[in-house]
Amino acid sequence: MGKVLKCRDVGVNCDFEAHGKDDADILRQAAEHAKSCHTETKITPELQAKIKSAIKDEAGSSCCGGHSSCH
Ligand SMILES: [Zn+2]
Repeated sequence: MGKVLKCRDVGVNCDFEAHGKDDADILRQAAEHAKSCHTETKITPELQAKIKSAIKDEAGSSCCGGHSSCH
């Protein structure tokens, strides 16, 4: 099952969603996104913990790994 992280769930007013196969994949994408979109935001250990707890299993990903393009 895939994983999803929404910026909004971390408390940021942003529509970005990271989709990945596991936590490490999500964290990598979140770091990339933060670098380009949230340049004021420092990735502190506290924020990383917050991000990790905001990562959720992606719903409805049973048929195609979470890519909505198949429907
Ligand atoms: Zn964002």
